[in-house]
Amino acid sequence: MAMSENNEKSVRVLAERLAAVRSRVESASARTGRNPGEIRLMAVTKNHGPEIVDAAAAAGIDLVGENRVQEATGKQSQVRASLAWELIGPLQSNKARLAVAHFDRIQTVDREKIARALGRAAEEINRPAVPVLLQVNIGEDPRKAGVSPEGAEALIDQIRSVERLDLQGLMTIPPFSEDPAVARRCFAALRVLRDQLVANTGLSLHELSMGMSGDFDIAVEEGATLIRVGTILFGER
Ligand SMILES: *Cc1c(COP(=O)(O)O)cnc(C)c1O
Repeated sequence: MAMSENNEKSVRVLAERLAAVRSRVESASARTGRNPGEIRLMAVTKNHGPEIVDAAAAAGIDLVGENRVQEATGKQSQVRASLAWELIGPLQSNKARLAVAHFDRIQTVDREKIARALGRAAEEINRPAVPVLLQVNIGEDPRKAGVSPEGAEALIDQIRSVERLDLQGLMTIPPFSEDPAVARRCFAALRVLRDQLVANTGLSLHELSMGMSGDFDIAVEEGATLIRVGTILFGER
C-alpha cells in the first residue's frame, strides 16, 4: 500500500530525529570509551496513535515503550509493523494477565505481589518465561514508583522464587530536576547498585534501562544499555 504524503513526511522527519539521537549516543559512548552498539533505543509512544508507531517503525525503530496496558493493547491491534513492545508504566495485579499476553518485557516490577501475579499469569496463558526488569526508586522520590535501593536485594530473592519470570536488569526514573547532576548521580547509583546485586546474587542483570529525552546522554555516559525516548522523537505529548 502506498503511504500518504503526510506519512512519508513524518517518516522522514522521524528518521532525521532518530539519526540525531543516535549520533548523540555515539558521542556519549565515545566520551566514556563505550561501544555504542551495546546501547538500544526505545521509542516511547504513549499518548500517540498507531499511525505514529507505524511511522516510527518505517523510520527504523524496532522497540516501543508504553505506559498503560490498555492503551497499548488497543494500539497493537491497529499497528501493522512488527515490533517489540515493553511496559514502562505502573502495573496493577488485575492487569497482569493482559500485560503478560501483550508485552515482550515488563520493566516495572517493584513489589512481590506484582511479581507473583505475573508468574501466575504466565502459567495461565502458557508463556514459558516473561522477561522483566526491577524498577528501582534510586532517587528515593516519594512521588515515584520503584523498590527502594535497600529493598532491591530482598525483592530479587522473592522474584527468583517465582517461576517463569526472567529478571534481566534494572530500570529507573530519576526525580525531576533542572540540575543535570541529580540525574547523573541517580544513573551512577543505579549502576553501582546493579554491580552490588550481581556480586551478591550471582545473576547477570545485564540491562540498565535509564535515560529519557532530557538526560539520555548522561545516562549513556553512566552505563545505560537501553534509553527510553519519546518527546525528542515525537514532540510534546
Ligand atoms: C514517558 C516516559 C519516557 C519518555 O519520556 P520523554 O521525556 O518523552 O523522552 C521514558 N520512560 C518512562 C518510564 C516514561 O513514562
